[in-house]
Amino acid sequence: MAHWLDGVIKEKRQWTERLFSLRIAAPLPGFTAGQFVRIALDIDGEQVDRPYSLVNAPHEPLLEVYFDIVPGGPLTPRLARLEPGDPIKVIDKAAGLLTINEIPDVDHLWMLATGTGIGPFLSALKTDEPWQRFKKIVLGYSVRQTRELSYMDTIAALQAARQDRMVFVPFVTRETPAGAIHARITSAIESGLLEARAGIALGQDSSHVMLCGNSAMITEVSDLLAARGMRRHRRREPGHITTEKYH
Ligand SMILES: Cc1cc2nc3c(=O)[nH]c(=O)nc-3n(C[C@H](O)[C@H](O)[C@H](O)COP(=O)(O)OP(=O)(O)OC[C@H]3O[C@@H](n4cnc5c(N)ncnc54)[C@H](O)[C@@H]3O)c2cc1C
Repeated sequence: MAHWLDGVIKEKRQWTERLFSLRIAAPLPGFTAGQFVRIALDIDGEQVDRPYSLVNAPHEPLLEVYFDIVPGGPLTPRLARLEPGDPIKVIDKAAGLLTINEIPDVDHLWMLATGTGIGPFLSALKTDEPWQRFKKIVLGYSVRQTRELSYMDTIAALQAARQDRMVFVPFVTRETPAGAIHARITSAIESGLLEARAGIALGQDSSHVMLCGNSAMITEVSDLLAARGMRRHRRREPGHITTEKYH
């Protein structure tokens, strides 16, 4: 049975008025990069908990979560008010299958995220495993406005370390900054723009696609990929698409 661990906030980073990261000290026994934990606060005498992906790699000492305030949501407005030194509860067992060890052997790994869905991909990319297994990794990160592209420092460090093995493709849907695709992930797949930017083909022979974030993107991209003969990956029935829906 899972138990709640006593954690404490060590660091807080505010990216925009709605986007935050918290670094937490808690004695989590271990996890696989890409997994999530449940975190909880006591609110008006009741414990409220939600799942959050870990952004840190397993070898990094502090747990890190990245979230946005959902107006009217029970937990996120409270999470955003936490400061270093405040207590927080963390469940003692991480879960989830958005992990590299679940991905079949292929040449190219595509990690496509909307918003805070970038978190589990950064955790995995900070480990050696994906770089030992795939020839090229494409990280697609879709936001509405440029300033919502959090963790650009981490992404730049990953790119510097991996050079031409990693292609980073930012998508900014409501602005037109240089270097970003001004379209949704779905449109960029349909038009061939994503493959042109990545310099490789997105197809069932060579690719596995990991999708994380909002469910509309995940459903629409999965449908588009189905037209290319790509299907949901299951342990018993290997496929080409692995997903985690946040909402
Ligand atoms: C496996 C898993 C991992 C998750 N990891 C993360 C994570 O790393 N970071 C993160 O920010 N969220 C993550 N979520 C969502 C998170 O658990 C909460 O639902 C979210 O933070 C809102 O919490 P809340 O209590 O304020 O509102 P909730 O009561 O959870 O949600 C209120 C309503 O808002 C919707 N909603 C939830 N999240 C969003 C959002 N981001 N934007 C718009 N609507 C939303 C819900 O579907 C619901 O209808 C994850 C969810 C799952 C299932």
